[in-house]
Amino acid sequence: GLRLRGIRKSFGAQEVLRGVDLDVAPGEVVCVIGPSGSGKSTLLRCVNHLEPVDAGFVLVDDSLVGYEHRDGRLFESSERDVARTRRRMGMVFQQFNLFSHLTAVRNVTLGPVRVLGRDPREAEQEARGLLARVGLAAHADKLPAQLSGGQQQRVAIARAMAMKPAVMLFDEPTSALDPELVGEVLTVMHDLAAQGMTMIVVTHEIGFAHDVADTVVFMDEGVIVESGPAEQVLLSPKSERTAAFLAHVR
Ligand code: ATP
Ligand code: MG
Repeated sequence: GLRLRGIRKSFGAQEVLRGVDLDVAPGEVVCVIGPSGSGKSTLLRCVNHLEPVDAGFVLVDDSLVGYEHRDGRLFESSERDVARTRRRMGMVFQQFNLFSHLTAVRNVTLGPVRVLGRDPREAEQEARGLLARVGLAAHADKLPAQLSGGQQQRVAIARAMAMKPAVMLFDEPTSALDPELVGEVLTVMHDLAAQGMTMIVVTHEIGFAHDVADTVVFMDEGVIVESGPAEQVLLSPKSERTAAFLAHVR
C-alpha cells in the first residue's frame, strides 16, 4: 500500500499542494477528481518522486520514497535508490510515450531486460502474455505508428505492468484518446482493478470512477476537499465544492 502524509509542493510562489494526506490499501483503487490546476498531476509526480516534495512524506509498502533515515536524520536518497523505489510504481500518462522505433513487445521487454536484468527470452514470453491480457496478442510485433491511440495506451499499460509494480499510477490515461477508443482502455484498467492491482487514477471519467473506484478523492486548490467511498462522494457529496464540480462535469 501507499501512505502520503502532509505533502506540500510549491512552484515559485505558487503553493500547488498544501498538505495532502492519503492512504491507499493494497488492492484498493483510488480515483482522484478535481478541476484543472488543482494539483492532481503534481500529486502523482510527488508520489513517485518525479517531483521532490517540499514537506511531508510518501511511503510505499512502508519504505520512504526519495528520502532515508540515518542516525535520526533525514537524507535525500541517492539517485539509484530513488530509481529502485520508483520501479515499484508503474506510471501511465496521458501521452503514451512509447519508443517509436521499437515494436510493442520490445517496448514492454525493455524495462525488464535493461533495468531488472531479466532473461530476454523469458521477458518476451511474459510481455506477450501481458499484451494478450490487454487484448493485443495479434499486434505485439507492430510499431507504435501502426497502432491506434487506444492500442498504444494499452501497450503503455502492459509496459508498466511488466515491471511488476506494487502500485499503478494513472494520469488521465484516456483524455488524449478519440472518444471511441476510451472504452477499450478503461476496460483494461477495470480488469487490472478486478485482479487486485493497487491503483491511483486521476480521471475525469466519472462513470469509471463510480464503477471501479473503492475511494474517490476530490481535490481543489491543492488540498483534498473530500474523500470517501465512490458512491458516497459521487452521488451524495458532503462538500458543496464537490457537488458543484460534479454538476459541472456531468
Ligand atoms: P489538469 O486537470 O489540467 O491536468 P492538475 O490538477 O493535474 O490539472 P497540475 O498539473 O498538478 O494540475 O498543476 C497544478 C498547478 O501547478 C498549476 O497551476 C500548474 O500551472 C502548476 N505547475 C505544475 N507543474 C509545474 C511546474 N513544473 N512548474 C511550475 N508550475 C507548475
Ligand atoms: Mg493533470
